[in-house]
Amino acid sequence: MKAILIRMGELFLKGGNRYIFENMLVSNIRKKLEGLSYKLEKTQGRLVINNYENEDELIERLTKVFGLVSISKAEEIDATVESLEEFFGRYKNLEGSFKVEVKRGDKRFKLDSMQLAKRLGEIILENSPKLVVDLYSPQIVFKVDIRQNGKAYVFDGNISCCGGLPLGSAGGGLLLLSGGIDSPVAGFLMAKRGLKLEALHFHSYPYTSPEAKQKVLTLAKKLCAYVDSVKVHCISFTKVQEAIHANCSPEFMITIMRRIMMRIAETIAKRENLGCIVTGESLGQVASQTMQSMTVTQNVVDLLPVFRPCIAMDKEEIIKIAKDIDTFETSILPYEDCCTVFLPKNPVIKPKLEKTEAEESRLNVQELIDQAMATEEVIEIKK
Ligand code: ATP
Ligand code: MG
Repeated sequence: MKAILIRMGELFLKGGNRYIFENMLVSNIRKKLEGLSYKLEKTQGRLVINNYENEDELIERLTKVFGLVSISKAEEIDATVESLEEFFGRYKNLEGSFKVEVKRGDKRFKLDSMQLAKRLGEIILENSPKLVVDLYSPQIVFKVDIRQNGKAYVFDGNISCCGGLPLGSAGGGLLLLSGGIDSPVAGFLMAKRGLKLEALHFHSYPYTSPEAKQKVLTLAKKLCAYVDSVKVHCISFTKVQEAIHANCSPEFMITIMRRIMMRIAETIAKRENLGCIVTGESLGQVASQTMQSMTVTQNVVDLLPVFRPCIAMDKEEIIKIAKDIDTFETSILPYEDCCTVFLPKNPVIKPKLEKTEAEESRLNVQELIDQAMATEEVIEIKK
């Protein structure tokens, strides 16, 4: 019978958390496979899916489940020497070089790995006289994995999955999602470490178009291939930007904007029981992403950690991931982001906290935050 053998990340195999993680992973897999028919079984460090249809779709979805390392398309056979001999006896007239690799997850099996590999190799050679054994760089590899469920799995290779930790196993976080390239990648990277995401987007309608907001919702939808669903909190930043523009020195525009974004982010995160804030910042990429800028923005966040998974990445590296997760083409659509609307010619690159606070003191920050929060619109995006 056809089966899919699933390997989980090694972390699950450690300590008392194993069952919690494993159960979470199984429930995440079931969510991901919704609408498909299949049977899922756990067997000692592996999961097995059989009785399925629509193999391509199933595999495509499994490769996007965080916490899975790899999967193999396999043939499931009773784990007896006789059944394996019968199965390998079906290969006829193969050519080239080959080897058999046996892994014995069930040590009760009566032959050891070497003995079984040798026996199965002999059977293959009997029916394919032109085939030769090559243990180092064979053209054909027969892998046999014997599990404790009384089954053996025969396959020829692995399909890589995402790795990481089961979605939700690290808790929840609030992703600051712009329409750019970096923030969807940041969200993906943190989700991969087990963080269930909600997103916060600031728009500047009517300075920015409805399409700019739609683009962000499309990005959230793309992320859903991995994270299933994202609640997107959309907030109008227009009044805040107008107030800063009218009252503060232009070079502090972005710094103060970012401080207000962070305050709103923390307020929403706390309200929604989310344990961290995530941004797509990368050190030195733009004026607002120097250490000094980050110090001044970080300063208004009272309690929560701010995770910046792209901080040490080059743009090229970020773009590569954006392409892999299929957000790149959407991110480069030419709609204005709220940040670019009032963009000053010469933003401060190394803002000082005191000077920033002095500039900011010309605003009624709390009132601006309350006004902005009152515009909140929550949109639930699903895959
Ligand atoms: P990105 O490609 O993610 O837009 P960027 O290189 O354009 O990043 P900035 O505009 O400085 O950089 O933004 C830095 C981070 O701040 C973004 O990665 C995102 O997390 C957050 N951010 C920026 N603009 C917005 C917005 N309009 N709504 C929500 N978050 C935003
Ligand atoms: Mg941006």
